[in-house]
Amino acid sequence: MLAVPSHSYTVSDEEGEMYFCNSRCLCLWAMMLVTKPKLPEGDRERSFVMTCPDGNKRSFDTLVELAQWSAAKAIGNLESEWLTKGREAL
Ligand SMILES: [Zn+2]
Repeated sequence: MLAVPSHSYTVSDEEGEMYFCNSRCLCLWAMMLVTKPKLPEGDRERSFVMTCPDGNKRSFDTLVELAQWSAAKAIGNLESEWLTKGREAL
């Protein structure tokens, strides 16, 4: 039987799939990317689909939304309105 890591997130876009071992990992990646000074034009508007540890999927229209959601998740602030960014995806 395949053991699925219980805290992992997968993020995919048209270029492929990235794996993150937990929400802090995901947050660090998203924050570094979204705050990159020389990020190519349009990269902050890229859309992503994320698979959560529980198997639910969530889509984000922009990198900014994904970064906000992951920050709220990593900090563990369940009240944050940033957790409403994006929407459930199939
Ligand atoms: Zn990690």
